[in-house]
Amino acid sequence: MVIIHAGAWYNQPGWPEFNRELIGGGSRSHDRLGEFEVKVTNPAHPVMKGVPASFSLVDELYYLEPDAKGTPIEVLAEAHSSAKNKTYPSVHVVKHPKARIVVITLGHDARAHDLDAYKNLLKNSIAWVNTAK
Ligand SMILES: [Zn+2]
Repeated sequence: MVIIHAGAWYNQPGWPEFNRELIGGGSRSHDRLGEFEVKVTNPAHPVMKGVPASFSLVDELYYLEPDAKGTPIEVLAEAHSSAKNKTYPSVHVVKHPKARIVVITLGHDARAHDLDAYKNLLKNSIAWVNTAK
């Protein structure tokens, strides 16, 4: 499964397992749309292939909070919010026992979608989740 942007929101009131088990957390807020930098923290992961070590984009910086009781996650890229003075995951994989899951909090509009870094993230994610676990 590849979960993108608003998909990582706490948006399933009758289905808490969606966030807890399939995302490993979620977001309830974000910075105002603006420019920020994403830093790759795990360049060796196949999802990050061809993605530069850091890149800037205009997007909403999601305040994605991992759920301590949720499925563990591995952060692949992160961004720092000046407003919150805190660093949040931008891309992570969920260490689900049965499924490959990538969560990309980026992608509000074409200013993100048109970037080569973003296109690589999508292509790599779709390829990776479709490989046997
Ligand atoms: Zn948005």
